[in-house]
Amino acid sequence: MTQTGPLPEIDETNRHFWTGGAEGELRFLRCQDCGHYVHPPRPRCASCWGERVEPEAVSGDAVVQTFTINHQPWLPGMEVPFVVAIVELPEQAGLRLTTGVIDCAPEDVHIGMPVRVTFEQHDDVFMPFFRPAERPAERPADRPGEGA
Ligand SMILES: [Zn+2]
Repeated sequence: MTQTGPLPEIDETNRHFWTGGAEGELRFLRCQDCGHYVHPPRPRCASCWGERVEPEAVSGDAVVQTFTINHQPWLPGMEVPFVVAIVELPEQAGLRLTTGVIDCAPEDVHIGMPVRVTFEQHDDVFMPFFRPAERPAERPADRPGEGA
């Protein structure tokens, strides 16, 4: 039995996005003139209309904006149910990805949840998924009256 998954088609405009995971990098096109991230990939900056857009890695952090629980596998072998989420990246307001949230129970996903990118390789494609981010270490509050 041959199963063909709905893998994205890689072309010159999106190769950076689907293969950045080979180096552990989530990459978006970024305008070299004004710094605006351009996603989905376009040959021109949506902000200043400049043509110097180049792939750049982002931090890989994101926050869940909304999500649904999906019972259909996107790819052969994917376990269901899984969470399909829209996540927003801190690099730019409105820079969002539709992705899967993995490595946690669907009922544990919530809006505002910090997540971090992780990649699953399928053939030449590195699918970016997101998993719960580790909680930032809690810092003790600064105590007044100390120092100097
Ligand atoms: Zn620009």
